[in-house]
Amino acid sequence: MDPALAIAIFALGLAFGSFLNVCIYRLPRGISVIHPGSACPNCESQIHFYDNVPVLSWFILRGRCRQCQERISPRYFVIELLTGGLFLFCYAEFGLTLSMLKCCIFGFLLLGLIFTDAETQLLPDKLTITGLILGLGLSLFVPVNDIVSQFLPALVSPEATSAWRLWSLLDAIAGAAVGASFIYGAGAIYLRARGVEGMGFGDVKLMAMIGAFVGIRLTILTIFAASIAGSLFGLWALLAIWAKRTHRRMLRNHESRSEARRRAWTSAAIALRHLPMPFGVFLGSMAMLAFLYGNRFLRWYWRLF
Ligand SMILES: [Zn+2]
Repeated sequence: MDPALAIAIFALGLAFGSFLNVCIYRLPRGISVIHPGSACPNCESQIHFYDNVPVLSWFILRGRCRQCQERISPRYFVIELLTGGLFLFCYAEFGLTLSMLKCCIFGFLLLGLIFTDAETQLLPDKLTITGLILGLGLSLFVPVNDIVSQFLPALVSPEATSAWRLWSLLDAIAGAAVGASFIYGAGAIYLRARGVEGMGFGDVKLMAMIGAFVGIRLTILTIFAASIAGSLFGLWALLAIWAKRTHRRMLRNHESRSEARRRAWTSAAIALRHLPMPFGVFLGSMAMLAFLYGNRFLRWYWRLF
C-alpha cells in the first residue's frame, strides 16, 4: 500500500460521500442531484464551497447551518467517513485494480440505498437500475466466477474456457434474475399471507442489482443472511416495544405486572405489524459482507460437512 495513494483514495472517498449525501436527500424527493448546488434543507440558503468540505465543515460549523443555525444531521459526516473508509478498504483489499473499482462502486451504491431505505423506506431507481447496468457491465472486466463460469464452459467445449467474459456476463445475468425473482416471489407470498406489502418493487430491483454484482450463490447467501438479520431485528423490536409498554401500563394505569405484560404483548404484536421494516437495509448490508467474505464463508461451511 502506497501511503500517498491511500490518502488520495480516502480523500476521493470523502468527496464521493459528500455527493452521496446529496443523492440520499434528493433522490427520494425527486430533485436533480446536479442542479442546483448544495443548499440547507431548512432555510434553503446556498452552501458556499468553503462550508462544503467533507467532514471538516460539519465540525467547524458544529453541525449547524451557518445562516439559520438549524442542526444538520450527523448522517452527513457519517456517510462521508463511511465512503472514505470504504474506498480505503477496497484499496487495501484489492490494490489498484479493476476489482477495487468494482468494490468501490458496489459499496457506494449500497451505502446510498441502505441510508435512503432507512430514512424514507424508498429505494430509488436511479441507484438500483444504474447499479444493475453497472454490475452487468463490470462483469465483462472483473470475473463474477460463479456457477456458469465453473460448469458451462466444460460442457460446451474444452476450448470455451477462454471466453471468460461471456461466462462472467451470464453469471451476472443469472444472479440478477435469481435475486429479483426470489424477492418477487417472497413478496407475493408475504402479501397473500399477511395482507400487507412486506417487500416492494424497490427490493426486487435492489436484488437484481446485487445479483449482477455477486452471482447466484452469493445472492442466495445474501437473501438467507438478510432474512436472519431481519428476523433478529424484528424480535428485538418486539421485545423492546413490549418492555416499554409494560412499564408504561404499570405506571399510568396502575396495572399489576402480569396484567400489564399480557396486554402490552397484544399491543406490541400489533405495533410490530405496522412498524416499517426496511428490508433493503438488511439486504444491502448482507450483500456487502457476502461480496467481501461470502466465498471464504462458503468454502469454510462446505468443509464442515
Ligand atoms: Zn439553514
